[in-house]
Amino acid sequence: MLYNYHTHTKRCKHAEGKDRKYVEQAIKAGLKTLGFSDHAPYLFPNTDYYSTYRMEVDELHDYARSIRALQKEYAKEIEILCGFELEYYPEFHEKEMEFLNQVKPDYLIMGQHFIGNELSLLYAPRQTEDKMLEAYVSQVLEGLATGHFLYLAHPDLPGYRFSKEAVEREYTRLCEGAKNLNVPLEINLLGIRENRPYPNRKFFEIAARVGNSVILGVDAHDPQNLRDGYAENLAQNMINDLGLNLIEEKLI
Ligand SMILES: [Zn+2]
Ligand SMILES: [Zn+2]
Repeated sequence: MLYNYHTHTKRCKHAEGKDRKYVEQAIKAGLKTLGFSDHAPYLFPNTDYYSTYRMEVDELHDYARSIRALQKEYAKEIEILCGFELEYYPEFHEKEMEFLNQVKPDYLIMGQHFIGNELSLLYAPRQTEDKMLEAYVSQVLEGLATGHFLYLAHPDLPGYRFSKEAVEREYTRLCEGAKNLNVPLEINLLGIRENRPYPNRKFFEIAARVGNSVILGVDAHDPQNLRDGYAENLAQNMINDLGLNLIEEKLI
């Protein structure tokens, strides 16, 4: 792969390594573009809720400054982009966009880990009722319809602990909606590296049938992840088997 838009930094509290190390490993891996997309700091108005999954609100400018400095410093060797991975929480979205726009991000990817919002603590992979999968798909499609997202990360994050009918119906609805909105779906290499329930072949069979575009995302939480050929090979095998339409060109 030559372009990776899914890279974290240690600010999110569950990733390792200096920003510069990610750049150095990306250059060694032969990437042409390294997009940083750390878990965006989130403005939760009128609450003292404290998110432990993302950078702090007051780290926004430090993050942007650090990535922009690396962008300049390494301009001859690699293209660096400054983006965010963002949840779509309808009631907070507009204010959140204003907040993030202070640093003029190059792009956003959607990574939806919560149904509703994280104040309600419905972490998607822990849900098992069919109506939760329906709610996830509706929320994701509503978010993608804003046009604010470059692609959808780990689209099948809620997994497969629902009825067979719901899995088929809802993931088909997700794939069709994303296709209509022209939003690519990510094959998440972190899920492969860590043997998570996603990316699941079942989901990508549906994506192949619907005709979605797919893209590889390293979802690096450690600089070493950028040089992991193993996960990339497994993803490539699935792409070949299913005849998926892989985007190999630059996305932005
Ligand atoms: Zn993460
Ligand atoms: Zn991520």
